[in-house]
Amino acid sequence: MAKKMRKVAIYGKGGIGKSTTTQNTVAGLAQMGRQVMVVGCDPKADSTRLLLGGLAQKSVLDTLREEGEDVELSDIRKKGYGNTWCVESGGPEPGVGCAGRGIITSINMLESLGAYEESEDLDYAFYDVLGDVVCGGFAMPIRDGKAEEIYIVCSGEMMAMYAANNICKGIVKFAQSGSVRLGGLICNSRAVDNEKEMIEELAKKLGTQMIFFVPRDNDVQRAEINRKTVLEWDDKVPQAEAYRGLAKAIDGNESFVVPTPLDIEELEKLLMEYGLMN
Ligand code: ADP
Ligand code: MG
Repeated sequence: MAKKMRKVAIYGKGGIGKSTTTQNTVAGLAQMGRQVMVVGCDPKADSTRLLLGGLAQKSVLDTLREEGEDVELSDIRKKGYGNTWCVESGGPEPGVGCAGRGIITSINMLESLGAYEESEDLDYAFYDVLGDVVCGGFAMPIRDGKAEEIYIVCSGEMMAMYAANNICKGIVKFAQSGSVRLGGLICNSRAVDNEKEMIEELAKKLGTQMIFFVPRDNDVQRAEINRKTVLEWDDKVPQAEAYRGLAKAIDGNESFVVPTPLDIEELEKLLMEYGLMN
């Protein structure tokens, strides 16, 4: 019998660690024997670099530009670490057109080429989506049930929390007409005072959970310059264990909610209470 594929989207402020966290988590899921496809939804096209051992993947939009409409699955989808499938949507040439359009084009193309078919036996599709606003093309993964489970990467820094709250507002909007739900906040630590407690409290106020606290660790950079996830670079280090913990938490997650976003005063109050507390 065909498995039911879980459709996961990772959102969060730019630079917060979405691509790093996604790929390391996917490596952890792969080690658990899960079959995963990662779809990069960022014009930077760096969502699969660590899984592929470099920027080896030509984006869907580049492929379309260079080879016309006659695209095959093998042109846009490459195998990465742990048997993962890797796709990059790509983006328009800088300054030309809407950056979100690539996502729509890519998902439609993957669908029409059969990348999601049951015969592929995928356990997960992961969308690594740019930015902190859920608008235009960047809302695509959570529209029409393309992604059903959202995790927001954040830290105890104010703008990361602000972005997380905004993304929740977007989820609320799309949850009304669709099946999209919030699975939790992933705290990617910036070593802010009381960070874990603060993000746990933010999660609680949003009606969700902090699904995992990922420590800040320079082994992430050491693996990154070797073009690898931490798990592939050195399976034994504590950070690899952390990402395996996150993978396990996501794999076992059963909490999916329509979030309850905060107003700005509430958010600032939370920052004051935890940020200034010692
Ligand atoms: P995003 O995809 O959200 O824009 P990235 O995943 O590219 O962000 O992360 C930005 C940088 O932050 C990465 O180059 C990586 O070196 C660093 N980084 C992310 N998570 C961690 C962590 N837990 N510890 C140390 N460095 C991290
Ligand atoms: Mg990224």
